[in-house]
Formats: sequence, structure tokens, C-alpha cells
Amino acid sequence: MSFKSIDDRYVAATYKRFPLELVRGEGSLLYDAAGRRYIDMGSGIGVTAFGHADAAWISAVTAQLSAVAHTSNLYYTEPCARLAEVLCTRTGMARVFFANSGAEANECAIKVARRHAADVRGLDNAVIVTLKNSFHGRTLTTLAATGQDHFHKLFQPLTPGFIHAEAENIEEMQRILDEYPVTAVLLECVQGEGGVNALSGGYLTAVERAVHERGALFMIDEVQTGNGRTGELYAYQHYGLHPDVVTTAKGLGGGLPIGACLMAEGVSGLLGYGDHGSTFGGNPVAAAGALSVLSRIDDALLASVREKSARIFSALSGAKGIKSVSGLGLMIGIETVRPAAEVVADGIAAGVLCLTAKNKVRLLPALNIDDAVLDEAIAAILAAAAKGVEA
Ligand SMILES: *Cc1c(COP(=O)(O)O)cnc(C)c1O
Repeated sequence: MSFKSIDDRYVAATYKRFPLELVRGEGSLLYDAAGRRYIDMGSGIGVTAFGHADAAWISAVTAQLSAVAHTSNLYYTEPCARLAEVLCTRTGMARVFFANSGAEANECAIKVARRHAADVRGLDNAVIVTLKNSFHGRTLTTLAATGQDHFHKLFQPLTPGFIHAEAENIEEMQRILDEYPVTAVLLECVQGEGGVNALSGGYLTAVERAVHERGALFMIDEVQTGNGRTGELYAYQHYGLHPDVVTTAKGLGGGLPIGACLMAEGVSGLLGYGDHGSTFGGNPVAAAGALSVLSRIDDALLASVREKSARIFSALSGAKGIKSVSGLGLMIGIETVRPAAEVVADGIAAGVLCLTAKNKVRLLPALNIDDAVLDEAIAAILAAAAKGVEA
């Protein structure tokens, strides 16, 4: 009963899949059709925040599924309202627009920035500054925002109005802010797809100040870093930043598609009736899943994310075949002597599923991964990184 060949024949060939047919999950474990067990160190790219088949999440989602699964945004549903309330209460933001993905959450942020330029500042041809090596999504506009040329080449013309600045270079950022009609800066506190590069608090604070001094918006893409991933509810909270817009998705739904664009008081009125919308956005089932996820991201959980992070950093740093370990919380990049793809392949052979980001092995385990399971995965990663490497 192999379905790999059917997928290979009929699904658009945009993904290079590993030859695993996964049929079942439980916590941080996944099982293939033959019953083989894998430790999931990627969580579906940072999505299944509390692992697979999590009982509390299933019961929240299925209760809503049997009550009402979808109504459209023509009517009120309770999970959508409550989720917006929780997100605002826990961040101090004023209003939330719900989308279905990270890219869509960023599209909303970009629309807010454009309205800010037109309505508030009267700027013509306003630009949005993003960083080199960033990743903001795959729609044509979020691709334009993404500061990696190799994503752009085949899809011209992209949406105009983006400038890419070098991360950690505050002088260049200030120069761009002085030279161009900048309406917003959009960045990730830890660049995920770009290689798990944590930006410094000093740089982030300086960018925020420079942006706000000029009346532009400071917008943070927390699609990957958000929802407990880095050891705070949102990564910007590590640095005491005051963003005008925060976008998030991935782990928010715990496995169901949802995205959110959080807007601070000063900008929450920019999008009015008819300015934006989504058929599925804020869908009650996805929102019920997100409410379950957020209700469990409390101080104790965040402290344990930071402990598990320290456990990984101390086990891997300086180990044979490992050049460096980067990241924040349970968002970790490992620079290995061997090519990352080879380390990942050996990990799979040993029953551990890791991701890559650029030239690094990337880990995004479930926030509640069991310490014994985590240690087992670390041992396999250490072995794969050390294989064939001279001492
Ligand atoms: C994954 C990601 C996105 C895109 O999210 P999708 O849900 O795939 O559209 C945007 N920004 C960042 C930082 C991401 O990691």
C-alpha cells in the first residue's frame, strides 16, 4: 500500500521529499507505514508545537469541529474572538487580522505599511526595508520582501517597493532610512530559513529607534520565532522591543493552518471595512487549535524551552564535527564539518528527522519534547556530525 509513487506521479513536483511514508505520530515520535519509529526534530517546520496527536489539542479541535467547522467572516464565532483577545492581552497589541499562513500574515503587514505611507505620511512610492538573507514567504509580494536573490530570478516582475539591507549593519540601515521614502522595516529576530541567525539585541533596538525617529513602522516577522519557539511567547519580547506590527503563523495552530497579523494601537485603524479579507481566516477550528496551544505556553513552559535549549547547546557546542551552534530557544542551527544534507541523511538512517537551513542542520523540536527522547536525538546527531571527521 505504497502512496509514494502516486504522489510522485500526481503532486506538483515542487518538493524534494525524503522517501518516508509517514502514517502516524505520537508526541515527538513519527511512524512510517512499516512501523519504523522516528524522532521528529523538525515538527513539520516548527508547526506541531506540542507534538503529534496531542490529547489536549485534539480535544479542543474536535469539540469545535463537531460544533461548527466554518462560517466565513460574515458572522461571529467564539474561538476567533477569544484568540484575538488572548493574542492582544499577551502582547499589548490592539487588533489582529487572521490569515491562513505566514506569507498571508506578512501580506497583511505589507498592506498596513502601504496604507501608513499613503494615509499617514503622504509618501509616494514608499518602500519597505527587509534584510538580506531573510525569508518572508512564497507569494510574489512576500518573495519580493525575501532578501535572497535565488528565489527571485525566475519570477520577474515581482512586486516593487522593497530594499534589502545587510543584517547587523546599523549604518547602512540609517543611510537607507535617510535616502528613501521608507514606510516600514520588516525583519525576523532570528533568521530561520536564512540559517538560524539570531540578530543582536543591540542591532534590533537601534533599528527600532531609527525607524520610529523617522515616523516609519517597525514590523517583526515572528512566523517561525513566535508562539514559544525561542523561549519567550514572541522573540521580540527577549529585547523589550515595541513593534507596530507582528506577524505569526507556523506553531500558532499546533498543526492547523492559521496566520495572524497583530497591529499596535497606532496602526490598528489603518485597515478598515473592505480593505482586506480572507474566506478561511480565523476559521473556528484552526482558532480553537491555536487557543489550546497558547493556553499552554505559560512561564513554566517557556522556562522549560530555555532549559531544553541549554541542554542542546551544551551537548553540541565544541563536539567533534560541529563548527558552531546558533539560534535561540528551540530554534537551533548547527554548522557541521560535513555537508548538512549528509548529516541529515545519516540522522534519518538512525531514526532522527532533522531539517536544514542554508548550510546548517536545523532543529525545531516540539516545545514539550521529552528529555529522554531529546537525548536520544542528540546522540544520533553527534554521531552523524562526527562520522569520518578527523579528531
Ligand atoms: C515559514 C515562514 C514564512 C512563510 O510561511 P508560510 O506559512 O509557509 O506561508 C514567512 N516568514 C518566516 C520567517 C517563515 O519562517
